[in-house]
Amino acid sequence: MEQWKIGDIVVTKVPEIAGWFPIDLWLAVMPDCTLEAVEQLEWLSPEYRRGNEINLSIHTLLVETPTHKIIIDTGAGNGKQRQWELFHKLETDFLSRLDDVCPRDEVDMVICTHLHTDHVGWNTQLVDGRWVPTFPHARYRFVRSEYDYWTKYVNDSSTADSYTEFAQQAIDVHEVYRDSIAPIVEAGLVDWLEPNQEVVPGVTVISTPGHTPGHVSVLLESGDETAVIAGDLFHAQAQVGRSDWSVQMDTTPTKATETRRTFLERFADTSTLVLGSHFGTPTGNYIQRDGDSFKLVPAKD
Ligand SMILES: [Zn+2]
Repeated sequence: MEQWKIGDIVVTKVPEIAGWFPIDLWLAVMPDCTLEAVEQLEWLSPEYRRGNEINLSIHTLLVETPTHKIIIDTGAGNGKQRQWELFHKLETDFLSRLDDVCPRDEVDMVICTHLHTDHVGWNTQLVDGRWVPTFPHARYRFVRSEYDYWTKYVNDSSTADSYTEFAQQAIDVHEVYRDSIAPIVEAGLVDWLEPNQEVVPGVTVISTPGHTPGHVSVLLESGDETAVIAGDLFHAQAQVGRSDWSVQMDTTPTKATETRRTFLERFADTSTLVLGSHFGTPTGNYIQRDGDSFKLVPAKD
């Protein structure tokens, strides 16, 4: 189990889907990524890439502060009808793994970095044929502009025009909205978030748009220690070295690249632990300058 201490804050990773996947996945989601260019990022091996396999994860990060138990992102969820096979009708034992770390009744807040399918899935679970909140005692925190964007998409199909067909299938907005977002709103459990807001002491969302319009990363501060949960600013570890590689699901690829660069500049060669939202073990890393670019260095436990 990967766990990190940031002063008085404890972060625990609860994996949903994790392992070594074919590198074809990077090539499929990042149009500018080539095998030759990946080869040049020598620092990727052996932690993040081994030959034709990459180390990928979908997980939740449980953040326990002295005052709150917060789930950051809720993975893909079980039993959801999805166009992308990777997320379709999953039957994982994620909930029992989470319960081993923190009974779900004790979770008092859920923060979604953005509202894509693999970050909102366990917002709900299927009970007696209905999608109901998985964390009934939690306030769910969605960024208002993010919610407004996807609501518009659901109601106005022309919003989809900027996405490739692959991206439309991967993000699967209508189904996601119906089974993972609307039930939370209808249950009255949402408190809207503004970017760059301190949510609870030591936990601040920072605006990192581009992957989606209201995308946020989560900064954790306690004493003189800091960590940041990146979110999908980085899908692939390779994007640390190649910040110009966007993924097809990015709403605004040029903005995503600009945001990645700003993020890398801010945290490179600092003591801030960077927790990747899709980085398999090691999920906790530091960013270092690497010539004109950047690289990841695994954090030692
Ligand atoms: Zn994601």
